[in-house]
Amino acid sequence: MAGLLFDLAGKVAVVTGGNGGIGLGMARGLAAAGAAVVIAGRNEAKSNAAAADLRQSGAKAISVVADVTDKSAVAAMVERTVREFGRIDILVNNAGINIRKPPHSLDIAEWDSVIRTNLTSAFLCSQAVYPAMKAAGGGKIINIGSMMSIFGAGFAPAYAASKGGIVQFTRSCAVAWAGDNIQVNAVLPGWIDTDLTKRARQEIAGLHDKVLARTPAARWGEIADFAGIAVFLSSSASDFVTGTAIPVDGGFSVMG
Ligand code: NDP
Repeated sequence: MAGLLFDLAGKVAVVTGGNGGIGLGMARGLAAAGAAVVIAGRNEAKSNAAAADLRQSGAKAISVVADVTDKSAVAAMVERTVREFGRIDILVNNAGINIRKPPHSLDIAEWDSVIRTNLTSAFLCSQAVYPAMKAAGGGKIINIGSMMSIFGAGFAPAYAASKGGIVQFTRSCAVAWAGDNIQVNAVLPGWIDTDLTKRARQEIAGLHDKVLARTPAARWGEIADFAGIAVFLSSSASDFVTGTAIPVDGGFSVMG
């Protein structure tokens, strides 16, 4: 029973920013559960390496160079996926960046860049996969939020705005597309050890220890922590779960 509930054999997943960090952790989970995976990112070498890594474990995987802020690149990514694998069942909107500055120092180009990469991209990709999911009789969309979907961030206002927005966009798509059997959920990572946070730890003194002290699980998250939630939200196990925002944070968000 459990095997069938979580089986993704025959399913096709697109993971934006799947060439490293949390996206790669999710891609590995989806591939291990049987899905064919399309890794999308701007860095061709890194994306090729991630797809090769998945193929080496026996999965079907390709990489596509795509800037998810660019509508025509997103259309090409979807077209290539359908040409290669014939369908799209799962979309993980994971690509993201941060620019750490307080609101009074952030310029409009920086604001636009963060909002476009973290939030507008989810709109572009979700809209682009919708026809293929509808044609397949349903689908699963997973959007990546953050603890800053919940808390304010004085050092990252555009990031927090984008991640708050992603939760409301998730709820809106969940409502709009429930009748098409498309479930749309958000995952809110706590503090996870990736390239993104390596830079944060260099820039913010004491961050490493502050996170440890504030996290009930008393550790930073690993990218492998995202395999299970990706499989759950992509499989029939979650067919009645939609519009949620699920923290994967070792208890960070419930610590008083
Ligand atoms: P990484 O920096 O390791 O990964 C970010 C990924 O996004 C890369 O694969 C990058 O690929 C891709 N990307 C960035 N911009 C674009 C773009 N314009 N087009 C296509 N791909 C793009 O960071 P994380 O794994 O940490 O972050 C992944 C997601 O998780 C982000 O949305 C982030 O905000 C979120 N998150 C992370 C947390 C953490 O603690 N690490 C906490 C909460 C949320 P490429 O450079 O090849 O384009």
